[in-house]
Amino acid sequence: MSALHIEHAAGARRPLGVMAALPQELGDLIDAMRAESAVRAVSHGSRDYHVGTMCGTPCVATLARIGKVAAAATVSALIHAFDVEAVLFTGVAGGVGETVRVGDVVVADSFVQHDLDASPLFPRFEVPLLGVSRFAADPALSARLADACERFVTEEGAVLAARLGIEPPRVHRGLIISGDQFVAGAADVELLRAALPDALAVEMEGAAIAQVCHEYGVPCAVVRTVSDTADAEAPESFATFLTELAGSYSSAILRRFFGAEV
Ligand code: SAH
Repeated sequence: MSALHIEHAAGARRPLGVMAALPQELGDLIDAMRAESAVRAVSHGSRDYHVGTMCGTPCVATLARIGKVAAAATVSALIHAFDVEAVLFTGVAGGVGETVRVGDVVVADSFVQHDLDASPLFPRFEVPLLGVSRFAADPALSARLADACERFVTEEGAVLAARLGIEPPRVHRGLIISGDQFVAGAADVELLRAALPDALAVEMEGAAIAQVCHEYGVPCAVVRTVSDTADAEAPESFATFLTELAGSYSSAILRRFFGAEV
């Protein structure tokens, strides 16, 4: 297979990579890009990359599928084949922080791979030979993302809460933990809380993306809507939330992030 490298027009801004694991989690982004200007679909490494613009910002939107390897492979391609300037990930997660409820939004400040353990050779959670256990989200990109989320919950939270019969959604910022498991048990949540007391949400991609971005010096930011609380009800709560709400949350947040009229 030949290497792929998408050239940008001379002087053009490098694009922003926008990723999700599952199609619902990208919301209407690709349709919104298509409505604005031509979108080129590029197939590479068993994924489709949609190259276009959103509110004038050059973007490459793609789906990683589920898990750390899938996410790492996809973000590597965004960096190497599409020369992205930064990476934004949107999706759902299980809430593990005491105050994090279904329907809340979590913007990552930092990430840990909760299933990485090469102890006693290296401290638990530390990426061997890299010497890092907590990866940072880019502060400026994350601040802009959190601002978009705050505007979303201020403008649409009350209506959303009344419609769903939930408390008005809130925005949290802090640690997101990632591993190759769908966490669906109260005892598992207790173990995660004991090991990583400041974790707000658990998912399966964020920390892998953050590691690759750290290694290549590419800024990244991650937003997760809480679809479940990683307990016995998680499979059902996740499936319902994914089908009914993940898309509208992502669309509403991304539209504000890019500065579209809402
Ligand atoms: N059976 C599902 C698989 C879901 S995996 C399916 O067929 O689609 C869950 C996805 O949502 C992952 O991408 C992960 O990042 C996120 N997620 C949501 N809740 C989670 C939880 N409780 N534990 C781990 N990941 C979770």
